[in-house]
Amino acid sequence: MFCKREIFRIFVRRKKINKRMNQKYPSVLLENAVNELSSLPGVGRKTALRLALHMLRRDVGYTEGFASALLALRRDVKYCKVCHNICDDNMCSICADHQRDHSTVCVVENIKEVMAIENTGQFRGVYHVLGGIISPMDGIGPGDLQIDSLVQRVAEGEVKEVVLALSTTMEGDTTNFFIYRKLSSYDVKISVIARGVSIGDEIEYADEITLGRSIVNRTSFNDSIKV
Ligand SMILES: [Zn+2]
Repeated sequence: MFCKREIFRIFVRRKKINKRMNQKYPSVLLENAVNELSSLPGVGRKTALRLALHMLRRDVGYTEGFASALLALRRDVKYCKVCHNICDDNMCSICADHQRDHSTVCVVENIKEVMAIENTGQFRGVYHVLGGIISPMDGIGPGDLQIDSLVQRVAEGEVKEVVLALSTTMEGDTTNFFIYRKLSSYDVKISVIARGVSIGDEIEYADEITLGRSIVNRTSFNDSIKV
């Protein structure tokens, strides 16, 4: 049960939110821009208004450059046909690099993790970007992820080790186990990054040294699931 004070606090907060939602804009164009900008993750209406006003202060060329970069990104970006990393061609620069160890594939959730691991400078293998992790709460099942293409890569025979580098969350663990089961009939070593990354942490937020060490000190997945 809520006490009177708590109810009052909720009432005040609601009023503040309503006030913000009903904020009057002097121009529909400005309001539209704020609506669009605030639809971005992590951008509230206050920040959106600040960004829109910033655009207005700069010359038109600045906004044109901004808009065309976003449009070009959305329209022209390609995904590597091997690892599903973002690239400008059919194959990303990592997959196309013959100096990399193509027999070691690091499985990550998203492109952000490829960038984070690349920044450590500790990994010379290649990647496989799943495009998310299994999360029934968000309606994401194995079929929504690039798991079949990972199995296909392993089935082709060149891959000797699969390094699972997913977030150390319940969803990450579920995805790890699903992949482990899918690959169990193949002659491939499956390892998991060391838990230098604390439980519940997301890979992209781990610092470079910790993440680098986690890749180097990876352990066999088989050992990690033994109770
Ligand atoms: Zn690639």
